[in-house]
Amino acid sequence: MTAPKHNPHSNLAIAPDYQGSMLMIVAPSGAGKSSLVNALLQADPALCLSLSSTTRTPRPGELDGKDYRFVSKEVFIAERDQGHFLEYAEVHGNFYGTSRIWIEAQMKMGRDVVLEIDWQGAEQIQKIIPEVQWIFIFPPSLEALEERLRKRAQDDEATIQKRLAAAHIELQHAHEADFVVINDHFDQALEDLKHILAASRLRSGPVMACNPALLRRLGV
Ligand code: 5GP
Repeated sequence: MTAPKHNPHSNLAIAPDYQGSMLMIVAPSGAGKSSLVNALLQADPALCLSLSSTTRTPRPGELDGKDYRFVSKEVFIAERDQGHFLEYAEVHGNFYGTSRIWIEAQMKMGRDVVLEIDWQGAEQIQKIIPEVQWIFIFPPSLEALEERLRKRAQDDEATIQKRLAAAHIELQHAHEADFVVINDHFDQALEDLKHILAASRLRSGPVMACNPALLRRLGV
């Protein structure tokens, strides 16, 4: 087996023969991203979701180790300085980061991974792992986005206003994504995500690596 390559942009030991799919799902708060990701995970048990660390306070019902790894700012900064995160960003005044070690382990095992992150983290990962598929989820309208933020009744007015302002910035980065899914009708949006995952699994590299005997027979 080839030794892992070392990428100068991060501490990631990239598995040179990574045959899995990596999807980054990016959307403004209120676009329905988490519900779509949960449905995709249920539909496809081979997929695994990256558990982010955050300095944000847990919302009612959120569990440490399930929704996020909730840590203090001091712990986050110490871990960041030790190279614990593949990417990290400050979003709505809190830090969020993806575990480098966990991603490395999944890549080594060739597993399919989903990351639910913001555009800043997506830009960082795109530089480190060019095979990643960046999927941007659009809400059907700004009005629908605001309505969803208010309906979930998890945040106070100041936080809702902060998230709406951030949504405008987030949307400006949609052109950097590989795919856009419009979450107007949930079932259709979920189908779209499944198609993107299926297409990602049909990339030439992984298909050829998984079918060496066929390649030999075909003289490829
Ligand atoms: P929330 O606080 O609503 O759970 O998430 C706020 C934003 O942070 C969302 O856009 C979410 O996708 C993003 N986020 C969650 N985890 C990460 C992460 O590990 N890295 C980055 N860059 N963003 C994250």
